[in-house]
This record gives sequence, structure tokens and C-alpha cells, in this order.
Amino acid sequence: MKVGVVETPGVLKLTEREIPKIKNADDVLVKIKRVGICGSDIHILHGKNPFAVYPRVWGHEFVGEVVETGAGVKSVKKGDRIVVEPIMYCGDCYACRQGRGNVCLNLKVFGVHVDGGCAEYVVVPEANAHILPDGLSWDEAALIEPFTIGAQACYRGNVQKGDYVLVMGAGAIGLTVASLAKLYGAIVIVSDLVDDKLAYAKSRGADYVINSGKENLVDRLNEITGGTGPNVTIDAVCIKKTFEDAVLITSTAGRVVELSFSEIPSDIAPVNIIKKEITICGSRLQTKRFPVVIDFIKKGQLPLSGFVSKVYPITQMAEAFEYTEKNNATVRKVLISFD
Ligand code: MN
Repeated sequence: MKVGVVETPGVLKLTEREIPKIKNADDVLVKIKRVGICGSDIHILHGKNPFAVYPRVWGHEFVGEVVETGAGVKSVKKGDRIVVEPIMYCGDCYACRQGRGNVCLNLKVFGVHVDGGCAEYVVVPEANAHILPDGLSWDEAALIEPFTIGAQACYRGNVQKGDYVLVMGAGAIGLTVASLAKLYGAIVIVSDLVDDKLAYAKSRGADYVINSGKENLVDRLNEITGGTGPNVTIDAVCIKKTFEDAVLITSTAGRVVELSFSEIPSDIAPVNIIKKEITICGSRLQTKRFPVVIDFIKKGQLPLSGFVSKVYPITQMAEAFEYTEKNNATVRKVLISFD
């Protein structure tokens, strides 16, 4: 079967491997239909993901059809269309006992710590398989994992109905955050430097958009929120300044959610955290968000159209990566198809 492998940092190859076999009673063999390219896959390609071990079959956003199940599998059967939840956790460590397996001490993520979804067939544990809503296309189904990241950020920021939520950045992740915040009943403000991206965010239901390169962000936020600032600020730009700004502009009793993997320190004075009693938290991957996103899709509440920028056949995997990197400013989601 064909697999897409990052052999060493910088070297992406399409190669042949044996089709994996069912080993455990809870194993499910999946024939892959789509795998999405994420910013984090590009980091892995360039050796910038501290968790990745090489060589690595990349891909953590993948969907497909069940073709075989282990003896003990009960929740899915042959022929089911599924999305794979990409994280595996021990269940015993402190984080797991807190219900936060996404930051498990022994965390394994498909495509990062173990081989991922850019393969014609992948074996996954039954617990990682979520059945797709009827009628959802494979292209749309591949968007479920990215939307769980938005759901997690809202969950971490305790987004409530009526909250003013500022989403910094209208890239793929910012858009998923904005969509979920809207579904939780927030008044959603999206900031970015690119008008086209802001227009798309608006078309997807953002209440306000701000081009922070052309308009004064603080003035506009004061106008929109009546001077309080956003109650929740979610940083999907992930640079030094956005983290600093987030702390300064968030309202009293507000929350700042950081999505950045940056190692560059920000200058933040503690007084600016304590005087408004701001909660600052990180949001990484997701925990228990697949059913949440699937449920919104089932109810027809989550807009998915226009989100996929381009689909490439597996034979053009290199072109797909090249396109994604070259069009970083405008691309939303690029998918690889195994049809
Ligand atoms: Mn992703």
C-alpha cells in the first residue's frame, strides 16, 4: 500500500509498505479515504515539532471505511464510515484522572508519536473510531478533527452564551474557534490582517471582523463591547505580541486561551493578570470533543462549505504540501484523497 512518510526532517516521500494487520481484540482496520494537511504536519516535515520521531507516516486528520474488526470490537462494524480521533492516552496519570487525556504523560498522537493517517490502510483502536453522520461527504468529514480544536479552545475558555469572544487570526484554526464560539451563543469578533480571510469569517457567522493592520484593535473592541473588552480572547495567531495583547485587552474576570507552540517568551506584567483576575490557559489537541462536533454537524448547525481549499490525489502528495506552504496566507484546508 502507498504511505506518505517524513523520513527525516525535510524529506517527504511516497513509499510502499505492507498493509497492517489486526493484532488486538479492539483493533479496527480502516481503508483511508481522506487525510488533511495541518500546520503541525508542515512543522513535522521541517523538524519543528519537538514531539515527532522519524521516520513518521504523517497525518492526524483522517477518515475512512472500516474493512475489518478485531474479535472484541462492538461499537463499529465492517462498512461503517468513521473519523479517527488521533490521540491515545494511558488513563492512569494525573491528567487522565482529571479527564484530560490530551495532555497525558504517555500521550501518543497518530502522525506524531506513532504512524498516522497518510496511508491506504491504518489500524486504530475501537475507542478512536467515531461513526460519521449520514450523508456527510468524505471531504467534509475530514474537517471534523480541525473543528474539535476549535471546540477545545472554547471549552478551555469557558465560552458562555452572550460572552464577547475575540478570536485572533482567521486561518483554519481561528475559523474553527469562531464557528464553535458562535454555536455556544457568543458574540464573535475575529481579527486578522487579510481582508479576504475576514470576509470569509463574516460569511461563516462572525458578528464583527477587525483588520488590525488597518484599524486600531483596542478602539474597535471598546466600541463593540461598550468599553469592557472581550470576555474571552483566543489567540490563534500565536506570536509574541498577540499573547501580550490578549492579556491587555481581555475584560475583568475574562479568559485568555493560548494555542501557540511558540518558544519565544512574551513580556507580560503580572499586575495585568491580577488586577482583572484573568485566567490564562493553554489549549492543546482536544479531549472528548469529537461527539460534540459530530452532534453539531448532525443538527446541521456547523457550516462546512468553502472550508476545503483543494483536494489532491495521493500521487500528488508533494504538490499538496507545496501548495499549502506557498499559499499559507489564504489556504484553509488541503486534503489528500485515496479514491
Ligand atoms: Mn490538525
